[in-house]
This record gives sequence, structure tokens and C-alpha cells, in this order.
Amino acid sequence: MSIDRLHAAPAQRLTVLSGPSGVGKGSVKALIQEYYPWVWLSVSCTTRKPRQGEVDGADYHFVSTERFESMIAAGEFLEWASYAGNLYGTPRGPVEERLQAGLPALLEIELQGARQVRRAMPESHLVFLAPPSWDELVRRLTGRGTEDEATIERRLKAAHEELASEAEFDHTITNVSIEQAASELVELLGSPAIIKSGAR
Ligand code: 5GP
Repeated sequence: MSIDRLHAAPAQRLTVLSGPSGVGKGSVKALIQEYYPWVWLSVSCTTRKPRQGEVDGADYHFVSTERFESMIAAGEFLEWASYAGNLYGTPRGPVEERLQAGLPALLEIELQGARQVRRAMPESHLVFLAPPSWDELVRRLTGRGTEDEATIERRLKAAHEELASEAEFDHTITNVSIEQAASELVELLGSPAIIKSGAR
């Protein structure tokens, strides 16, 4: 490839998927991992305990609060947030390596983190995953059966604020079906040919 064509190549970018808890971000992420394995997804650190079936190093890096705090102090997070009583953060190194290699990266994080990424990397592409309706979101949040009542209350409160933030985003995907939402998101990331050239 000539140098001119290299310069003309589209800049690869960081895409951030955010939206209220219970909207289905985790399901969209899981479907992308299974059906679009060439898409590179960041693995977050969290102080939350693993849910049944979650795998350390694949779903999250499950770490102690002490370890998380030492990573904050060492500047190891691109962004981090306290959410519903636990800490969540994106390790900086793997994302920066990916972008420096000119390849796209995808984060699935909550709103406070998405705002931090926007400040740190204004050129990043922020995608809001919206529920089909508020009632449907409440149904999903209360129907998951994995959290106690206090946790659900905290999450509903956060969801109110998160829904109001949609205007800060570059793009909205309505999660009518997980398959359709995942395919819309993957399309936004760019062609598989570009992404595959740096396959894991
Ligand atoms: P859960 O505990 O249900 O896996 O995740 C709770 C929330 O944390 C979700 O909204 C999820 O998007 C968010 N989250 C997961 N990883 C990160 C991260 O690295 N940073 C931030 N800010 N939020 C995250």
C-alpha cells in the first residue's frame, strides 16, 4: 500500500456502548463475542463478585477493592466508576495498544465511564442502547432475578439519569431485539475486512 493510501485510510476509533442497566448491554456484548469473534472487546475490571457462569478474564477481571484502588493510583484505567456499590474500570493498556495499531476497539460501560472517555478521547464514538420503553426497562430490571431489592432500587434510580443522557451520544440503537442491536453495532464498527486484519 502506498503512503498516500495509508494516510487516506479511515482512522480506527474507539466505540463506547452505554445505556441503562437492564437494557441488555451485557446480552448484546455476549452475542457479539459469540457471533462476531473478530470484534475486539475490552475486558473490564470489577470489584463485584462473579455471577453464576461468569468467567474471570473473559467476562471481567474480578479483583479486590485494594487491587482496584492500587490500579487507580497507578493510572491504569482509561476510565472507572463506582456503580451500584461496586467499582468498574477499563484497563488502559490493551485499548491504547489496539488504537495505536490503527484497529477499532469496543467498550461496554455505564454512563459515568462513557463521559470520562468522551473527555479523554473526544473523537471516540458514543453509542446509546435504548430500551423500547420505560416499562419494558423496569420489567427487565426487576425480572432478571439476580439482584436483591435494594440493588434494583439503586439501578432504577441510575437508569432514570442514564435515559436522560441520550442526547450526549452520537448514535442511538433501540434494543428491540438483541440480534438486531448487535448487528447494528457491529456495522458501526466498520467492515469485517478492516477489523479482521488485526484479528486476535
Ligand atoms: P454488571 O454488574 O451488571 O455486569 O454491570 C453493571 C454496569 O457496569 C453495567 O451498566 C455495565 O455496562 C457497567 N460496566 C461494566 N464494565 C465497566 C467499566 O469498565 N467501566 C464502567 N464505567 N462501567 C462498566
